[in-house]
Formats: sequence, structure tokens, C-alpha cells
Amino acid sequence: LLFHRPAPEGRVRTVESRRDMFKKILVANRGEIAMRIIRACRELNIATAAIYSEADSTGIYVKKADEAYQVGPGPVKGFLDSRQIVDLAVRIGADAIHPGYGFLSENAEFAELCQTAGITFIGPSPHAITLMGSKVKARELAKQVGVPIVPGTEGGVADVKDGLAFARQAGYPVIIKASAGGGGRGLRVVRSDAELRENMEAAAREAQASFGDGSVFIEKYIERPHHIEFQILADRHGHIIHLGERDCSIQRRHQKLIEIAPSLILTPKLRDTMGEAAITIARAVQYDNAGTVEFLLDQDGRFYFIEMNPRLQVEHTVTEQITAIDIVRHQISIAAGKPLDIRQHDVTLQGHAIQCRINAEDPKNNFMPCTGTVTAYLSPGGIGVRIDGAVYKDYTVPPYYDALLAKLTVRGRTWEETVSRMRRSLEEYVLRGVKTTIPFMKAIMQDPDFLAGRFDTSYLDTHPDLYH
Ligand code: ADP
Repeated sequence: LLFHRPAPEGRVRTVESRRDMFKKILVANRGEIAMRIIRACRELNIATAAIYSEADSTGIYVKKADEAYQVGPGPVKGFLDSRQIVDLAVRIGADAIHPGYGFLSENAEFAELCQTAGITFIGPSPHAITLMGSKVKARELAKQVGVPIVPGTEGGVADVKDGLAFARQAGYPVIIKASAGGGGRGLRVVRSDAELRENMEAAAREAQASFGDGSVFIEKYIERPHHIEFQILADRHGHIIHLGERDCSIQRRHQKLIEIAPSLILTPKLRDTMGEAAITIARAVQYDNAGTVEFLLDQDGRFYFIEMNPRLQVEHTVTEQITAIDIVRHQISIAAGKPLDIRQHDVTLQGHAIQCRINAEDPKNNFMPCTGTVTAYLSPGGIGVRIDGAVYKDYTVPPYYDALLAKLTVRGRTWEETVSRMRRSLEEYVLRGVKTTIPFMKAIMQDPDFLAGRFDTSYLDTHPDLYH
């Protein structure tokens, strides 16, 4: 810890007298999500402390937090060093830590370490994190409580023979999954005995190396499903609600690129059924705080639970835009022990929202991550436009982190209006000096299939002209 930048003088603080809310939150993350959390804290009059690496010291969140502390060593380790972060929180008098997404957000030991040090972890219990960190365990739980899961192996498969037996019985293609995998990593689709043999051991080895857990399992590969996920809010008093769904089917290599809310294909009845299933799963782990229950919806309208993410998600913005509910604000108040002030019937979905991930990547070159200095920056504005960004003119994109520069979210009354608003916003966006996904997103907004709502998880594979 090398530097400490004190809070700017003269800022009005009214929190000292409030006992039921945190006074200072340490934001254990960087980039756009650190900004998002700082914004929520500012509205709640909670002081913020940022952490940053030397490589990231020009990050905008470092300037916007009330205090900022350099952690290390190197660009990444400081963001992953539980002990260093908890010690810092104690030293600076923070009473809670928000982990954002990625980094330590799904690390049960970190959540426990916070607890032991008397710091509130803004997220679910270590128990829920551990359980949901294992896809195998999460599947077992879903099955126990009667929520449909994708047909697959019972538990992990250690032996290729067992894998082959399942695949032959279920029929190819199947997908090999790392139990501890996430972010689209640790998935392998295989279409024959030979491919399964080839991939199973490699998958286990890779899972061990990447996630510290070599267990893999196999699911039937569902052709052309929609990825539908439900946003959950649960307090510490047993109230659980959902905020409707997001359709995150526009993916590249199983990673989300565009997210929309609500889904264009769910009927109100199916929404209720899937929402109830999501709540059932959350209840089964005595979940509290914000979380997301993910499903696949097949071409015949059948849904299957795939996993639950026990954290804030990148795409939470689209839900906020159609519900007018601030998810981060609720995360904070739930962690402070307050009961939910919204009931299920208070949640209404209004209009449509789309989020495009503006990544520093070259769509024409296999989405290769790009670095560089932003030489001109002007974000779009006007009705229904929201930017969650971490980028400004003269900002140099560091090569060490994910490529997400900004999230552009728009909302509109109808789907057509929302798509045209997104196209207009992308056209307005000036971001020079680094290659970004903006041109690619623009092409999608003009694609007749997208406009007609004809897309599922196969969309990018079936529309290669959009990025070649
Ligand atoms: P991760 O935790 O890495 O995000 P998920 O299990 O959530 O992995 O799956 C990510 C994506 O992979 C899904 O949104 C979907 O597109 C695809 N996928 C996962 N499981 C299946 C399956 N059984 N059949 C078809 N596609 C799948």
C-alpha cells in the first residue's frame, strides 16, 4: 500500500449520525463496475474507498472514490489478495466491502474473512457462494427442489467410460463442463465418441489449472436455446423476489455480448413459472442479496436450470432500466440488514432495454483485445440512454484486465424503438484511438433478424457476415 489520497474537502457528509447504514464501503474492484458501486454509495451518502494497481492508477474510479489506495504487487494480484483488502478495510474504518463481479466476488473464503474481521461482505453467505460455485452441486440442489435441469451425468464424471455411456444414451452433441467454470470458460461441445475421448481428460486438466477444481460433468447439448436468466433480490428476513428476466442469447464463444430485457419470447405465464423456479432455487440455499438464476429455454419452450451466479452481473443494467429498481442500492441495504421494501407485485416491467458491451476488441480480427490511448471521447446521450463507463479522453487501456470499456444501455417503449435508439446511440458514440466493438454492434442493430427478434445462442455462428 503506497499511496493514500484523502477525501476532497468540503464534501457534505450526513452519514455519521446514521447507525443503520454503512459509513464507508471499500470497493474491491475496478473499471466500470467500481464506478457503478461508487454512484450507488454517493446517492446513499456512504463514503467510498477504491483500490487500484499501479497500472490502473489513471482509472476514473480512482478519482471518483472519496479515498483510493494502491494495492499490489503487479496489476492483478492486489485485487485478488483477500488478506490485504480486508486488512485495509479495517485500517481505514470501512464497515463493508462490495466485491463487484469477477475478482473476489465469488470467493467464499473472502466472504468469510470479511465476516471474521467484522466487515460486512455485500453479497450472499459463504455457504451460498460455495454451493453455487459448484455447478454439480447446484444441479443436485435444483433437482431436489423439483426445478428441471439439463439432462446430464449425475455428479462429476471421472472416467471416460462413464462419459461415453451418458453420451451414447443421451445422443450427441453433448457439452463437457467444468463444475467450477465460469465466464464461458471450461465448456467443450463434442459431437462424437472420438471427440469426447479427446476432450474429456483435457477438460479436466484445464479445469484443474484454471479453477483449482478438476471435476467435470456432461450435459446434453441443447441446439439453439435461448439463455434466459432471472434477477433475484433476497433480504435477510426471508423475502425473495425476482425482477423479471434477461435474454442473453447473443453470445460469442458462450460469452455474452448483448443482453436484453424483457425476453421477446416469454409469455407472462412462462415468466411466472420460471420466476417461481428461480425463487425456489434461491430459497433452497437461503440466499440473500442479489443473484441471478440462469436457464436455457429450448425451441419447444422447455426450460432447464444451468447455474446460479451469486453476485452482481455485468448486465444488471437492463433490468434496472425496465423496472426502475436500483439493484446495487438494494444490495447495500440488504447487506445492512434492512428488509426488502418491494413486494413481487410491485415489480412491473416497462418497455424494453438493450445493453451493448463496448469492449476494446477488434471484431474484424477475431475479437482480439486491443490496448491504446483514447484520443477522442464523446458518449451518446438523449432520451433513454445510459452509459456505465470507465473511459475518457487520454485514458490508456491497460492490457491486464477484461476488455470492457463501457456498457451502453438504452430503453424504449417498444422493441423497434429500442433497437433504433441503440443504433442511433452507437452512431453518436465517438471513441477513437482504440478498436472497439461499436461497429459490430451497429451492424447487429441493422440486421433484419435481430430487429425481428429472431435470435438464439447460435446467432453469431449463423451471422458470420456481421464480423468479417
Ligand atoms: P459459464 O458459467 O461459463 O457462463 P454456463 O453453464 O452458464 O457457463 O453456460 C454459458 C453458455 O453456454 C450458455 O449461455 C449457453 O449459450 C451455453 N450452454 C451451456 N450449457 C449448454 C447446454 N447444455 N446446451 C447448449 N448450450 C449450453
